[in-house]
Amino acid sequence: MSLMIGDNSVVSMHYKLTDNDGNVIDTSEGMEPLTYLHGVGNLIPGLEKELVGKVENDSLTVKVLPAEGYGEVMEELIETVPKAAFQGVDNIEPGMSFEAQNPNGEMQRIVVKHVEGDLVTVDANHPLAGVELNFDVNIISVREATEEEISHGHVH
Ligand code: ZN
Repeated sequence: MSLMIGDNSVVSMHYKLTDNDGNVIDTSEGMEPLTYLHGVGNLIPGLEKELVGKVENDSLTVKVLPAEGYGEVMEELIETVPKAAFQGVDNIEPGMSFEAQNPNGEMQRIVVKHVEGDLVTVDANHPLAGVELNFDVNIISVREATEEEISHGHVH
């Protein structure tokens, strides 16, 4: 009998993540499989729930909508700021990314979207916000987590 994935399973899996145009966003191909502790939010919710009950050697395709992935694009996270806000950076160009402090004092990554004259539009959304995610998953192994792994919330 194969162990089924559920809370406190340690799962190893290979995966490929593509967008709706078939572009590969991320993959474990050619690397060690991804190993995670199930049931503690280590994966995005839309993927984790579809893995429940699966066993070693299962393959599955999972489509995850933004609400259960990295969220929808939030317009309030897109802002236009003066170039002067980027102290010590001479040449601001679209695609550049910076660490910035948000009003709650947390560090977040922002990406430059447009530069027009003295104004810079930056986006603090997750790069995969608003993106429909398509996962191809192969389950390599499933085992019970140890007490220590459960108490730490991650795999050793
Ligand atoms: Zn630990």
